[in-house]
Amino acid sequence: MPFKRLTTALILLIGLTNLHAQTPEINRKVDKLISEMTLDEKIGQMTQVTLTLIAKGSWSNTDGSLDPEALKHAVVDYKVGSVLNTTSHALPVEKWREIQTEIQDEAKKTRLKIPVIYGLDGMHGQTYTLNSTLFPQNIAMAATRNPDLVDQAAHITANEMRASGVRWEFAPVLDCGRQPLWSRFPETYGEDVFLGKTMGPTAVHAFQANGLSNPTAVAACMKHYLGYSAARSGKDRTPSYIPEIELREYFLPQFHEAIKAGAATIMINSGEINGVPVHASKYLLTDVLRTEMGFQGVIVTDWEDIIRLHTRHLVASTPRQAVVLAVNAGVDMSMVPMDYSFFDLLKEAVEKNEVSIDRINDAVRHILTLKYRLGLFDNPYPEEGTLANFGKPEYQQVALLAAQEAMTLLKNQNNILPLPKDKKILVAGPSANSIAPLNGCWSYTWQGNQEQWYPADSKTIGETISEKTGGKSTVISVKGFEDTQNYDTVRLKSAAADADYIVLCLGENAYAESPGNISDLALPENQMALARAAAASGKPVILVLTEGRPRLITGIEPSMQGILMAYWSGKKTAEAIADVLFGDYNPAGILPFSYPRYSGEIVLYDRKHTEDVREIFNSDMTWNGYNPLFPFGWGLSYTKFTYGTINLSSPALKSKGSITVNITVTNSGAREGKHSVELYTHQQYASITPNMQRLRAFKKINLKPGETQTVSFILTAADLAFVNANLKTVTEPGNFDLMIGDQKASFSYQP
Ligand code: BGC
Repeated sequence: MPFKRLTTALILLIGLTNLHAQTPEINRKVDKLISEMTLDEKIGQMTQVTLTLIAKGSWSNTDGSLDPEALKHAVVDYKVGSVLNTTSHALPVEKWREIQTEIQDEAKKTRLKIPVIYGLDGMHGQTYTLNSTLFPQNIAMAATRNPDLVDQAAHITANEMRASGVRWEFAPVLDCGRQPLWSRFPETYGEDVFLGKTMGPTAVHAFQANGLSNPTAVAACMKHYLGYSAARSGKDRTPSYIPEIELREYFLPQFHEAIKAGAATIMINSGEINGVPVHASKYLLTDVLRTEMGFQGVIVTDWEDIIRLHTRHLVASTPRQAVVLAVNAGVDMSMVPMDYSFFDLLKEAVEKNEVSIDRINDAVRHILTLKYRLGLFDNPYPEEGTLANFGKPEYQQVALLAAQEAMTLLKNQNNILPLPKDKKILVAGPSANSIAPLNGCWSYTWQGNQEQWYPADSKTIGETISEKTGGKSTVISVKGFEDTQNYDTVRLKSAAADADYIVLCLGENAYAESPGNISDLALPENQMALARAAAASGKPVILVLTEGRPRLITGIEPSMQGILMAYWSGKKTAEAIADVLFGDYNPAGILPFSYPRYSGEIVLYDRKHTEDVREIFNSDMTWNGYNPLFPFGWGLSYTKFTYGTINLSSPALKSKGSITVNITVTNSGAREGKHSVELYTHQQYASITPNMQRLRAFKKINLKPGETQTVSFILTAADLAFVNANLKTVTEPGNFDLMIGDQKASFSYQP
């Protein structure tokens, strides 16, 4: 067993042992506590409210200060078990500790003194604490193909969250990004199942490292179960229609793996699948999640999603019926979060025997177990030592490395890049002089678009380019993505006259959730016009894209000499961009999605054979079904990697055996570089139409010029499985093609 697998197995074993070691004792404590609780106390535990409800001034609150009366009303009168969110923006770490202390002090005044659990969204770093370290969004982390960076970023996030006194992390997002219009695409690990199955559980392990009671761990929350990312319209929280065979093939495995990794909690998709709101689906919440996948943690709703069964989905004719549907489907905790209606309605429902006391006890058992595991009963307050884990200087290094590894060079015509540092560079475009469009959603505010909350040392692209060129660059952009001056083509053309190169920074300003809905995947026309004007100047144009999803650039791509996909890569985005543009860093990121060429052709890399091979007329066929502008896995380097032939330990895989795949990779260029070696398979014939290719493994390596390394993979039958027409995950006997780089081999599976 290779070292990495052995360590993973050991960590898993230790993790499971920890969990079980705690269980009997915790179970006894939980049972005892439940036996002492009144119905009100139980329902209170199932209620989660938002900070705004207990903050001074409610909606007008900006500093997180609590209203003692409102706090008492929530914690003592309504006995709420959980609080979430910030009021309007990130707060200082000390303020968070104060808030946690006041809330737990209040909980101590209740009859049973059950601590409150606080939850926050830390999607790419500890979003709501000022000066926390923000990392690349998941989509960019997927481009690094480096799980070690995911691990480090999640560790730091957990540390900074725990330093803020908070122990429940509403991450990772495990939704599969198969609909690029979706406004939460940047929060996903891209379109591929294996990437999600690898990166997501890595984050879970790191958040919860060494057991939840460890003062550097937080409880992870897998979200948003299930099928949220596949909205047919591409709009947030609109219906998905997913046949169960697809649900199980593309959307479920990431959750299944994260459950195996020990994820403590799960949040439910606000949308619906095939007409059934997921919050009302007993099949998905109980039969599949609990019974089939064995999830034992807490099931929490998303924002306001129970009442919306009545007001939006129209599947419950009264608010109480909505509560009954959701709780009976399997929901443990309701993110109500702006009133106490859930408490009152659930109480009524229990009294009317519409929800059984067993179901209530079951929900409360999950919640109390989590609180015990997190050590909240021993000490619910921010621990002394944890503050020192906030904002360590070395975190910045990890943020820089992650941003650098994410940078994905899509085009480099005639090796226009790297740029010389002694030439005149014109820097233009709406994202050249701003911070928000480099970070995106969940950055100090929910939307991430209020620059005043970003750390003072955050840099713009204009600034980092100016540093590289010793001030020889000119930035014509002004702060503010929407400012019309940033789209002034006349100004651009005249400034270009004096420049040797134009670096044009286009893309998307920060957005999150529904405010990020778009009706057109195309890059907005004012940006396209800017690109055309830049190209018309006759100067070489390097396009830098800072965006959360692939906005179409097909019309301008031919006239851009270089294209760098920078995503929303967090605090160090601008530094990483300049490092790549000027050759101080050799790019190695590769796309975690297919960059579409046309809005009418959203075909993904793992397409079916029948999507690829199309009929033109009668038996005339074309093989161009997959025709993106840049394919999944695409990304250039300043050096060249060449592959030897694929070497298989055996031409036949047996059911319990494995095949070792060896391949040599050589850096045949002149620069040191990192490179992700990706292994794909294709089954030649199967009982349902096979995918053209599926990513089964990847390994990131670093090679010096002239250096050769042998990369090994171990394939088992499970790696080749798919969901068949009977909805079973199977590996069928047959012949397989195996592709790595430009190399191909074949083997058979004979159980
Ligand atoms: C989002 C969740 C988030 C929750 C709490 C919702 O609107 O969908 O991802 O965890 O708010 O902030």
